[in-house]
Amino acid sequence: MATGVRYCKLCGTQLDKPSWILREMPASAQKFVEVSPNDDSEKTDLFIHQCDNCGLVQLANDPVTYFKEVIRATAFSKEMGIFRRDQFANFVERFSLNGESGIEIGCGRGEYLKLLSERGLKMTGLEYSDRSVAQCNAEGLRVYKGFIGDETLPLQDEKFASFYMFNYLEHLPFPIQNLRDISRLLSEDGVGLIEVPNFDMIVRERMFTEFCTDHILYFTEDTLRQMLSRSGFEVLSLDAIWGEYILSATVRIRPTFPTTDFSNAKKSLESSLNSFITSYDPESIAIWGAGHQALAVIAACKLQGKIKYVIDSAPFKQDKLTPGSFIPVRAPSVLSQIPPSALLIMAGAYSEEIARTIKSDYGDAFQVAILRGMEIEEYA
Ligand SMILES: [Zn+2]
Repeated sequence: MATGVRYCKLCGTQLDKPSWILREMPASAQKFVEVSPNDDSEKTDLFIHQCDNCGLVQLANDPVTYFKEVIRATAFSKEMGIFRRDQFANFVERFSLNGESGIEIGCGRGEYLKLLSERGLKMTGLEYSDRSVAQCNAEGLRVYKGFIGDETLPLQDEKFASFYMFNYLEHLPFPIQNLRDISRLLSEDGVGLIEVPNFDMIVRERMFTEFCTDHILYFTEDTLRQMLSRSGFEVLSLDAIWGEYILSATVRIRPTFPTTDFSNAKKSLESSLNSFITSYDPESIAIWGAGHQALAVIAACKLQGKIKYVIDSAPFKQDKLTPGSFIPVRAPSVLSQIPPSALLIMAGAYSEEIARTIKSDYGDAFQVAILRGMEIEEYA
């Protein structure tokens, strides 16, 4: 049934009219009955939408009642087994995961847990089907009954080095929330392998038979990448595999920008500026440049009171005071009127050209230096 207003499961945009309705399809791909019912309760219409914002194709239908359970018909074929062994070996090697921990989300009866363990991973599984959990446990696999984000799971204090999710994401009605919950189970540099059916291939082959109530989401390379990016992951690679039936993505937790490095750079600049200033007459140091970079340096390194004037060639800045630090801004001609003891140029990509011009105009009348990156370099 599709009732009420529906929103895109990737970007939250309201979904309007379905792009296509596929009538009288099986209400479940898993519910095999023994006796035919005498009504239409086992049939449903599939309301297929494409979000006009992000492009994700999705059903507006409610998820099937058993969407948390992973149901794999048979153990994989011999060829699939060979393919997976190879794939997992490469993954373990690529991220140096030998001996590290991993969790498979939606592990079914543990088919992949065993292969991943064979590759040297210390695997844990999460599965909602009681029967599958019991079977896994009976085989000695460490598998918990539950669903992503369950607070009662005894996993809250663990940080896994890697996670795995095969043909499960497309079943989930709250994929972003689920992916974010998964990221909380991972170590800071945790990586993952996520696979879904390839909708690019389904479109190319016009395989309308791939639409089913069990699959709420239909990912292309583009929309899978968007989904993973919006859930706190960086996509490291994304390939169509297994005759292009499967999209296989490797991800890692998105690294945070290096705040400690920034703060160390600030301290080091502050100290080199201070030693630069004290090696000249501190009453007569000048800065060239009243752009955002120079203003930031003056403010962050507390140069107020240590700089005689700032030079800028923009007339609208001249004869005013720098914002926040109140240092007078002068036109370049000030250099001949009141020569400084040293001039520090902070003009980004123009610094070199300015230094050359000043050297040719003033020779050795005063020391010239350039702030290059976060280093002060004396200009000979
Ligand atoms: Zn969307």
